[in-house]
Amino acid sequence: MPASSAWPARLALAFLLLVLSGASVLLWRQIEGVQQQRLDERVGYQARSLVRQLEGTLHLEVASLERIARLWNSLGRLPRASWDDEVERALRGFPAYQSIQWVGDDLRMRWLFPVAGNEAALNFRLYPEHPNYPLAIEARDTGEQRFSNSFDLVQGGRGFVLYTPLYRQQDGQRVFDGFLQGVFRVEPLMVQLLSQIDRDAFNLELLENGQVLFRHGDTTGDDPHSLQLGLSLLNNQAFSLRLSPTARMLEQLESPLPGVVLGASLAISLLLVAALALALENSRRAHALQLANRRYKVEAERREETEQRLRENRERLQLVLDLTDSSHDGLFIFDSGSRELLHMNQATYATLGYRPEQFAELLREDPEKLLPGFHRWLQQVREAQRDNLSRIFQRELIRRDGSRQPAEINTQLVELHGREYLIAVSRDNSERLQLEDRLQRLSQQDGLTGLYNRRYFDQRLQAELRRLRRAGAPLTLLLLDIDHFKAYNDALGHLAGDDALRKVSAVLQDSLQREGDAACRYGGEEFAIILAGTGLEGGEHVAARIHAGIAALELPHPASPLERLSLSIGLAVLDPVRDEQPGELIARCDQALYSAKHEGRNRTCLWGAALA
Ligand code: GH3
Ligand code: MG
Ligand code: MG
Repeated sequence: MPASSAWPARLALAFLLLVLSGASVLLWRQIEGVQQQRLDERVGYQARSLVRQLEGTLHLEVASLERIARLWNSLGRLPRASWDDEVERALRGFPAYQSIQWVGDDLRMRWLFPVAGNEAALNFRLYPEHPNYPLAIEARDTGEQRFSNSFDLVQGGRGFVLYTPLYRQQDGQRVFDGFLQGVFRVEPLMVQLLSQIDRDAFNLELLENGQVLFRHGDTTGDDPHSLQLGLSLLNNQAFSLRLSPTARMLEQLESPLPGVVLGASLAISLLLVAALALALENSRRAHALQLANRRYKVEAERREETEQRLRENRERLQLVLDLTDSSHDGLFIFDSGSRELLHMNQATYATLGYRPEQFAELLREDPEKLLPGFHRWLQQVREAQRDNLSRIFQRELIRRDGSRQPAEINTQLVELHGREYLIAVSRDNSERLQLEDRLQRLSQQDGLTGLYNRRYFDQRLQAELRRLRRAGAPLTLLLLDIDHFKAYNDALGHLAGDDALRKVSAVLQDSLQREGDAACRYGGEEFAIILAGTGLEGGEHVAARIHAGIAALELPHPASPLERLSLSIGLAVLDPVRDEQPGELIARCDQALYSAKHEGRNRTCLWGAALA
């Protein structure tokens, strides 16, 4: 899966997470609502039970006053001592009393217990202006107990009074005999009442007509769980209690369920989405892996193919190299700058007697010892390539044993990666050269006698004349003609004539001793000898040797006066000072030959002498 197509799936996952989280919160709020409802119910239940307990406790505790009143009403006014006992017992039973007192029918204080702390009340009298006056009158008239609203006590502070009307029998009549009054301070009363019940469960405020009279714990007004319940203190309905559960109470009542549910459902949502994301990522990775595998496979196949091709190429290259090794021509390629060999076949070094490394080293270190004139030759190769001339060079290579091997080297310079390579194919062409040499020689030779032919003579004479004139050296030319040869042929036959021609030629050849001398067949039975660098004396010497050689042949010639074969020689010496043409020299020599014939044959005549 490509990276871009992962986004819709991711967005869907994010949306799913959002929806699941929303559902979790909704569920939480639902459960939270139910929990709150249950909490409020339980708080209400507890609060009502507390209010009932408070009311019950007060009823129970002030019953002692009722009992004293009942004694008073039935037995008549109690003696003071008995009253004190009863009252003290009542006080012990319910220490919340500030005092218990008897106010007579004139509503004036009579008896009071305890006196300590209540001295200010000793002279108390309930006047009609007193806020409790109507309530007291109501109690007197109804004969029922009345619990007052709070008021400022004469002893100081706020308090309540419980009026219990007293009666006595007088003349068979029930006569009002004042009130047995239980006086309470607000706070001790509430503390005492609360001590009877579980007061740590609630923060609590006692309200009297909406005004806070007493507070236990924190304020309750702001608490969302707070509730206000009417508190009936005996028959007084002016009070109410406002309660709010304490943290401890809430802790007991509250259930961790909504939080657990929220946490759990959020965690489950997260886990679910994470699992889905993981699965998605896994599938994406698997897909990517699959793609990579496919790519890898294709790549591997391509590589396999390339390697196969490379193998084939290598094999083909090896084959080519092997084939080049089987070639008789040397093939070598080297860097023309460093003369490092790139390749050479076996023929390159083997025909010269080197080992491969010897050849390579020689080429690199001292190429002149391998190919004389190497540097000049390399230059020529470059020039030939540049000028598009023939790049085949005839050179010589030095064999390992020091001998020279003619080599025809075909060259090609190649520029590659900023380097110049020379590809050279060398061939040992000594045989061909020899053949050429032979052909050359054949083209210069006379077929019958093996001497140089007339064409060669002309070229040679011309060349020697030029050369010797420059050098200022002499040249002697001999023209020779067999005497009475026509008659020889006639007498002995043409074949014998040819044979004689060959023998004469051999004598001529043998008579030459210097390198530059050349004996040529000039015509049918005429010969010419070029003696380069030889003067008159040398020429005469050679001529004399020829005559002697011919005589030594002792070829019988029936038609000759000598009875043996002889020849005549015309001799002329080139004057290097005069600018003579070859024709002039030949002509002079011819004249000398003519003279020799004329003077009786079998002799040599000099041109100069003949003229003289
Ligand atoms: P001379 O002494 O004056 O030279 O008399 P000669 O008979 O030699 O006269 P010339 O030089 O004119 O004669 C040439 C003869 O040489 C003619 C020919 O029969 C003979 N001859 C020329 N070429 C050949 C050849 O190749 N073979 C043979 N057998 N004879 C040749
Ligand atoms: Mg002749
Ligand atoms: Mg002749």
